Amino acid sequence: METSTQDILSIHQTLEKRPLIISGPCSAETEDQLINTAIRLAQTGKVDILRAGIWKPRTRPDMFEGIGAKGLPWLKEAKKQTGLPTAVEVATAKQVEDALMFDVDVVWVGARTTVNPFSVQEIATALKGVKIPVLIKNPINADLDLWVGAVERISKSDVASVGLIHRGFSSYGNTTYRNAPMWHLAIEMKRRFLDLMMINDPSHICGRRDLLQEIAQKAVDLDFDGLMIESHIDPDQAWTDAKQQITPENVATLLDAIIWRKEDVVSEEFHAVLEQLRQRINHLDDELLQLLSQRMKIAEEIGIYKKNNQVTILQTSRWNQILEEAYAKAEKLKLSKEFISRYLNAVHMESINHQNEIMNKE
Ligand code: PEP
Ligand code: MN
Repeated sequence: METSTQDILSIHQTLEKRPLIISGPCSAETEDQLINTAIRLAQTGKVDILRAGIWKPRTRPDMFEGIGAKGLPWLKEAKKQTGLPTAVEVATAKQVEDALMFDVDVVWVGARTTVNPFSVQEIATALKGVKIPVLIKNPINADLDLWVGAVERISKSDVASVGLIHRGFSSYGNTTYRNAPMWHLAIEMKRRFLDLMMINDPSHICGRRDLLQEIAQKAVDLDFDGLMIESHIDPDQAWTDAKQQITPENVATLLDAIIWRKEDVVSEEFHAVLEQLRQRINHLDDELLQLLSQRMKIAEEIGIYKKNNQVTILQTSRWNQILEEAYAKAEKLKLSKEFISRYLNAVHMESINHQNEIMNKE
């Protein structure tokens, strides 16, 4: 299926917009629901691309698995009535083919697909030379290499452009978020692929409406390029992801409440002050590294001492004591318990590794 030059230009121009706002239902359910959602989104004047799940990869069987190709003409009609370009999730070569037949403007690879290199490759092959933008969601598990691999596979297909969507990472058990944001992974991905746009999907991170605003704000503060927010004309009655969807009007309210900050300002004075503060941070970071290195050297000495006395590396009671004391101090120093726990665990693991090497050396 050929896309006309005009289409290519317009979707490309749309994708350049910052912030780029993608919204629409988790799933296309009926023609009315999809078209009315699209009309109400377009009326806000704040949405750039209409999203809709046509094929839904569900974790469990017997759940609504999407309306399927039957929904594609509805999407095309929604575009015709609103002028909004459309985006769908694709997981197989056939779905790519069907989506292209109905002039879908952007496709995205879902989190459950990014984890599977066979599926990603199948999509990449189906997209070979097709000048369509492709967005790649992070894999459901916190494995950066899978995300990188998907970007590499799709990029090799010479598609029009590749972008990233951060939708959080699944974890076992009850957590505040449906999918833990693990911002550092998205930030690392941004660092590795400076040229790729990064969209945040607060809906799938939060899994519930009341958290959407703060996650969207955080993404904006971290200089993400846009947001993908699920919306529905009657969120409570949605067939999928009801708890996280909001009305088109509430998408507009959420966007209005965001404080949009600039990445940079031109004033020389601002840069001078910022530079001074950064120098101080660099200096402290250097000192921290020196101190950590010294700490590891002492840990190694302890390793030798333990080895000579045939004592185990890990002494749980001592470790607990370190943690308890650090938590107490951290509170006074205004450092969060979560950060101190992660920091000390990382330092402790590094110590153990150093000691392990010493103890097992001939
Ligand atoms: C979706 O966007 O509706 C979806 C299924 O998302 P994810 O792949 O992030 O779970
Ligand atoms: Mn969804």
